Amino acid sequence: MRVIVSECLRGVPCRYDGGAKPNAAVQDLCGKVEVVGVCPEAASGLPVPRPPAEQRNGRVFLRDGRDVTAEFRLGSARSLAKVQAHPAPLAVLKAKSPSCGVHLIYDGTYTGKLTEGEGTFARLLQEEGITVVTEEVVEKCKPSVEHPVAIVLGSGLGHLAKLVKPVRRIDYHEIEGFPDDAMPVAGHSFEATIGSIDGVPVVVYPGRIHLYQGYSASEVTSLVRHAHHLGCRDIIFACATGAVEGNAHMGLGILTDQINFTGRNPLAEWDDIRDVETPFVDMADAYSPYLRTIARGVADDQGISVEEGVYAGVLGPCFETAAEVRALRMLGVSYVGMSTVNEVIMARALDMNVLGLTLAANYSGDGSVTHQSVLAEAEKHAEDFEKLVRGVLRLL
Ligand code: SF4
Repeated sequence: MRVIVSECLRGVPCRYDGGAKPNAAVQDLCGKVEVVGVCPEAASGLPVPRPPAEQRNGRVFLRDGRDVTAEFRLGSARSLAKVQAHPAPLAVLKAKSPSCGVHLIYDGTYTGKLTEGEGTFARLLQEEGITVVTEEVVEKCKPSVEHPVAIVLGSGLGHLAKLVKPVRRIDYHEIEGFPDDAMPVAGHSFEATIGSIDGVPVVVYPGRIHLYQGYSASEVTSLVRHAHHLGCRDIIFACATGAVEGNAHMGLGILTDQINFTGRNPLAEWDDIRDVETPFVDMADAYSPYLRTIARGVADDQGISVEEGVYAGVLGPCFETAAEVRALRMLGVSYVGMSTVNEVIMARALDMNVLGLTLAANYSGDGSVTHQSVLAEAEKHAEDFEKLVRGVLRLL
């Protein structure tokens, strides 16, 4: 996988003060991917060191008052040309910079205040469709013993749990909020494993309960809160779905967004939820663009066939009617399933980074689907699914 990275984050002394701003998480990532290093300000021909610059009303000024907007635009254009010669799906840029900043930049008053906006170079990359994040996102997604990656597995995908080098096992029934009477359905197991996969700390939940079994949204999201209590910041949800014909094919998919058609929401069960600060949770980019792009890169590198699309969560347990499939297709839905959406809401309420992976084991509305056919289809893709998850863990 190729990644565009601000040179100063790699340790190159190109900042205004002649120094660098090395970031350990970014440097670690750079050791695992092919890097396209960029410094738009140096590319503009501005000297190192130089007076600090900030953006005000879309223009860039040095602290001494000089308007260097033209230089910044030139440096950004030159850096973009370098990127276009070496295309990459992901950029990690230095936060807050008037060139590299993403969503928030210094406001031109030299007081440390930030304003909404993009750096001149960050904006060009976004226009190219490149996922642009800051070093803060890379740091926040980096797993450790204190912050293992949670992995919640759905029907037919539980075999991944066998990859874990275990340290401790936890019966789901010991988890606060998990219903005492819940028993696993075929293909699931109700024992979480804390350990590691290829040296990456993980907590794997090899099965889940569903709303259609009569459980509340609070109960079905208890595993997410448990993962959060254990320190997990990244959470990978894997689920079996039906592909909406015309929008997706059967096989592996990366979830890009979701529509919650279950009619339930764990944040509406406010008496049961004490872990989140507010129920009014921002669900834009619910599925982390950074993690999605990493997953896409792993799939492309390893030749794994993976599509991408929107997931619609329905209550179930019956499958979709022909009219419902037509409606879902018109709404741009690629995958339909009976889990995940409430869990993702809970995870976002807890500020966790979400990656959604699916195995579309049948076509939505295809009357021949059975639990056995789902397991059989999952088996066909088990190796690719495993490679995909291991590849993502390796890059985090
Ligand atoms: Fe770092 Fe970007 Fe500024 Fe260069 S332009 S010093 S890469 S933040």
